[in-house]
Amino acid sequence: MRVPYLLLDIDGVLIPFPDDTGTGPASHAHHDVVPSHRAPDDPVTIWLNSAHGPLLMDVIRTGLVTPIWCTSWRQDAATLIGPLLGLPPFPHVDLPRPQITTSHPNGYLWKRDHVDAWLGDAPAAWIDDDFTSLDHEWAAERAARGSATLLIQPDPHVGLRAEHLVEVPAWVERLPGQPTLGSATSSGFSAA
Ligand SMILES: [Mg+2]
Repeated sequence: MRVPYLLLDIDGVLIPFPDDTGTGPASHAHHDVVPSHRAPDDPVTIWLNSAHGPLLMDVIRTGLVTPIWCTSWRQDAATLIGPLLGLPPFPHVDLPRPQITTSHPNGYLWKRDHVDAWLGDAPAAWIDDDFTSLDHEWAAERAARGSATLLIQPDPHVGLRAEHLVEVPAWVERLPGQPTLGSATSSGFSAA
């Protein structure tokens, strides 16, 4: 069986939604970053939990999943966000920029059709805060067709928790034909 992808969202996952004071949880440190579509003198303030880098690396180093950014930060995920968490550059799903006013224009996550095409029949664990019941149905149907699919949905006001990442290798190890943690080869990733 192929090594499953680990699709990773950022907003609502690594960057929780702002609280009533317009800022993130106390566990998250503030950073000013300049996304590639903005002028150099027009940064945006984000907040990240430095513990997330080592937690993600613990999963990636097992070699049980291949990490892929799946976020409206697109290529900025690898160049701006990942380095702040000490993560090596991962590829990203090249999502389009649809003119939409809701993240569920058809009742399900706007990214899903692009992810579905990008994945083909590859197995995947997907961490995103914004799935609807239709996305969970899609995942179940996909899994029933033989493409193992796990959706993990953090609370966007809290973001990613260690428990979410524990789920990922445990899920991979339950897949038929999958190597166990002890026999998996190194993914070649190293901490920055
Ligand atoms: Mg999100």
